[in-house]
Amino acid sequence: SRLKQALTKTRDNFSQRVEELISYYREIDDEFFEELTDLLIAADVGVSTSLKIIEELKAKVKAQKIGDPEKVKGLLREIIIELLGDEPVGLDQHSGPQILLVVGVNGVGKTTAIGKLANKYTREGKKVLLAAADTFRAAAAEQLAVWAQRAGVSLIRHQEGADPAAVVYDALEAAKARGTELLIIDTAGRLHNKKNLMEELRKINRVIERGYPEADYTAYLVLDATTGQNAVQQAKVFSEVAKLDGIILTKLDGSARGGVVLAIRSELGLPVCFVGVGEGIDDLQPFDPRGFAEALF
Ligand code: GDP
Repeated sequence: SRLKQALTKTRDNFSQRVEELISYYREIDDEFFEELTDLLIAADVGVSTSLKIIEELKAKVKAQKIGDPEKVKGLLREIIIELLGDEPVGLDQHSGPQILLVVGVNGVGKTTAIGKLANKYTREGKKVLLAAADTFRAAAAEQLAVWAQRAGVSLIRHQEGADPAAVVYDALEAAKARGTELLIIDTAGRLHNKKNLMEELRKINRVIERGYPEADYTAYLVLDATTGQNAVQQAKVFSEVAKLDGIILTKLDGSARGGVVLAIRSELGLPVCFVGVGEGIDDLQPFDPRGFAEALF
């Protein structure tokens, strides 16, 4: 599958080593657990999440009186599915109007992800509209315009330096007038100025909540899977400034650090909703936890 293919590097970096460890040990002992913990940490699962997974593994091994290391793979798969939640979480299949706010720092693949989502939902028959509320960089709106054209949707934009909340206001009015079913809003993600970012996002939130209270409102953070623990750090900071509903994890295909999915879920309580598996317009998938766990082992 596409997901399995995207996880090639993560498998080389992690699953392969787990296999080696399993074939090296004849029985499960403390040293085995220690080495497995190190492998999890090295795969960007995060220290606390790795320890948690190993504790659960130990409990299962003990309860089921398992001695054969070969059985560990299946147990790890089970633990990962439990940790991620079995059900894939995509954008709610709402019948009424929906607004999706997308946040994330530059370079993570935010514009690409928005373009892919616009395309996906347009293909599924929804009326989609984009809004360029990243008015800080002229290039951001330009790039979004290219994706809007590819996906065959309209884009609401103002001039560089305009008030992002004003763009959002106009986009809401346009969405209502045109019967838009999904409005996707791109925002600037300048994390180095946390106070400004917080204020900007607050203002946008207020405009949305007052301007279109009947719409279903979701906020996704875009993270780059190749940045590992750095992505977790970004998620922590964004969680402090905005109310997030989920994560779009990009560049899973180029990353050996797919384990970061587990750290994000467990440390931040945020579900990964979509994963980027390539640069093409169709290379975005709703995240499937079971498929992920099965692709790993
Ligand atoms: P932004 O600055 O966050 O809007 O980032 P862009 O959307 O411009 O993406 C930055 C780079 O990452 C571009 O070269 C994209 O083609 C690439 N990219 C985005 N998503 C993916 C993905 O899922 N896989 C791969 N391999 N590349 C991606």
